[in-house]
Amino acid sequence: MRITFNGAVQTVTGSQHLISVNGQKILLDCGLYQGKRDEARKRNQDFHFDPAEVDVLVLSHAHIDHSGNIPNLVRSGFRGRIVCTAATADLCGAMLVDSGHIQERDVEYVNKYRLKRGEPPVEPIYTQEDAVKSLKHFQGIDYDDPYLLGPGITLTLHDAGHLLGSAIVVIDFAEGNGRPGRRLVFSGDLGRPQVPLLRDPTYLDEADILLLESTYGSRTHPPIEDSADELERIIRRTFERGGKVIIPAFAVERTQLLVYLLNKLYHQGDLPDMPVYVDSPLAVNVTDIFRRHHGYFDEETRNYMDNEDPDGDVLGFKKLRYIRDVEQSKALNARPGPCVIISASGMAEAGRIQHHLKNNIEDPRNTVLIVGWQAPNTLGRRLVERSPVVRIFGMEYQLEAEVVTLNGFSGHADQPGLLHWVRAFKKPPEQIFVVHGEPEAAQILAARLRDDLGCPRVIIPALYQTFEV
Ligand SMILES: [Zn+2]
Repeated sequence: MRITFNGAVQTVTGSQHLISVNGQKILLDCGLYQGKRDEARKRNQDFHFDPAEVDVLVLSHAHIDHSGNIPNLVRSGFRGRIVCTAATADLCGAMLVDSGHIQERDVEYVNKYRLKRGEPPVEPIYTQEDAVKSLKHFQGIDYDDPYLLGPGITLTLHDAGHLLGSAIVVIDFAEGNGRPGRRLVFSGDLGRPQVPLLRDPTYLDEADILLLESTYGSRTHPPIEDSADELERIIRRTFERGGKVIIPAFAVERTQLLVYLLNKLYHQGDLPDMPVYVDSPLAVNVTDIFRRHHGYFDEETRNYMDNEDPDGDVLGFKKLRYIRDVEQSKALNARPGPCVIISASGMAEAGRIQHHLKNNIEDPRNTVLIVGWQAPNTLGRRLVERSPVVRIFGMEYQLEAEVVTLNGFSGHADQPGLLHWVRAFKKPPEQIFVVHGEPEAAQILAARLRDDLGCPRVIIPALYQTFEV
């Protein structure tokens, strides 16, 4: 077997690993690399292999850094199937089309500047139409159900507990020549135990070759219950001073988690008497997909749905309104009195959240609640750092609102979680490749895997590096 690492090595985006075994080329993930505009464009546009030669794409989950370059793969000649869980296929249906729209808009903006400088216009990496075309290749399968990928190659997906439909990828293969069969495990992104809504990650007992994510390989998360309690306190104190709580949140997963926590507060009588708005068309679509796949929710959530939530809808309650329509979104600006507004994008770099921030951050009664990691040089990061003045749509605004950051909602396993997951193998995998982490996180995790768990070969691959295993 040969593995080439085409992305998400020593960084967290652009997940893409190419495996060759028994004459088959299997791509694991086809994510978008996210970084500085020009560099990202170059990395995403051209593949380091011929997409037409790839037989099958196995997709771990729907997040854009794992799935977002699929429309370009198909446009560049890929003709095979895209195998993932049914929920991942549905989520990609909403997310890739949304991403196509973003790519088109982004190029419009870039071309405006290129025109001024007398440079020729550039094309989007892919369009909404390309995204729609790529959806025909998806084939949803069930968790734990073996699927034949090619001669002597079997795929099984197990719940990774990171996002609805997210999977740990297991590939069992026999290369013949009297060699015993072996098992490659790709962790995808691993979730955290005890996160509401989703099941805990599946623990496996066997792996010969392991591709392990390391996003939080050097960190320990605060407990999620602390953040949930803090959420209640923040809403209460903002309500008492007559303010609004503005929450930039990713439309996928983080928004649904917040809604679930607010649903519980509401039914326990702990939510002050104020409306909650989810203002994002993508979040509305994705929430519908979550509802359709409620069988994937964890046992606690399903029990709560059946026995405690009078409406049986954990992603809805009487005080909550989902907003798709632009006019209704604008109407929120004029709405007096306390409320909670959850809106995308998660780092406040685009989307409707920018309007809500612009209209609300100059009022000290309001709270901006940050619930996810904010990349450097984003509006979200400037809010976390409490810059006294921030620019939105080219205008300067005084940051007078309270800003609170809750770090406990991460959907990724932390260092203890990752080590605990690897410890479940009956014996350490003979070869571990540490992927999907910044260099420091990857190095610290690799050292723990070697020193504490006795893993014999732990490698942090470089971009485009190939290994025979
Ligand atoms: Zn992810």
